[in-house]
Amino acid sequence: MLFEAQIAFLARNNQLVSLEEAVKLLEFGARLPTDVYAITLDDCYRGLIKYVLPICRKYACPFTVFVSTGPLATGMPHAFDYVLALAEGTSRQAVDLSSQGLKKFSLAGEEEKYDFAVSVSGLLRNWPVAKQKRFLDSLCEQLQAFPQKEDFRDLLLSREDFKALCHDDLVTIGGHTVNHLNLPALPVEECEKEVRENKVMLEELLGRQLHFFAYPFGGESSYDQKVIEVVKKEGFSHAFVLRRRRETGLNPYTISRQNIHSGSCVGPGADFSESLFAIEISGMGDWLFARCNGHRKKPCP
Ligand SMILES: [Zn+2]
Repeated sequence: MLFEAQIAFLARNNQLVSLEEAVKLLEFGARLPTDVYAITLDDCYRGLIKYVLPICRKYACPFTVFVSTGPLATGMPHAFDYVLALAEGTSRQAVDLSSQGLKKFSLAGEEEKYDFAVSVSGLLRNWPVAKQKRFLDSLCEQLQAFPQKEDFRDLLLSREDFKALCHDDLVTIGGHTVNHLNLPALPVEECEKEVRENKVMLEELLGRQLHFFAYPFGGESSYDQKVIEVVKKEGFSHAFVLRRRRETGLNPYTISRQNIHSGSCVGPGADFSESLFAIEISGMGDWLFARCNGHRKKPCP
């Protein structure tokens, strides 16, 4: 499995530390030594307990999970997985969303369904929850598909899974909002609600205080000064973004993480490539492959 190959490689060649230790090192030295790594994962998927926990236990690898609590509270997923389930559950071959500023989508094949889910969830991430719900309800009617909790049981982390995860000594839990929305696009009261209710629920389940937060999506446009002030006010001491470089000089509310792109360390024979992975964790992958927002563009000349 790719994740195991990545963790085994990191454990063999580097020092794997918890996020608390990494932050302490950053605070002392302003820059993390190049052979020190802290692993972080996001959201609320069952794969955390099924795959990540056993592999990280095997390699004694501490890791942090930034948990979005909507799925824990309701058993229903965020917009992307919900819209994908709609596309997979409908017998319609196409849907016209040009009145929403999108387009007419074909739903004929797997790839088209996936593109549809990416486009629609990309629009919804900027909407307050109530508006999003109204739109999804009408989309269900339009497509005559009505996904239920049971459809997502294997996909999402349950409360029992969460308890097993957070009681492991290797695991640190961080905040990641309730509904995984693009915070700068929301009215400030809704932004506060997203950050606060996530923190309250996680602290109740954990029985201890949360200190770390990761902005949903994590890119430069997923936080601004308003959002940083909210995160500070709600009592988080450090917040994390996705950025292309290693940290130099510590701003506690915009600490960099290196995104590991799926498939970025698979060689031509579809096997794990240590060389490609070494490029990826160095941060050079983004530059080398001229990637932007997680999508591959033409390689640099
Ligand atoms: Zn996320």
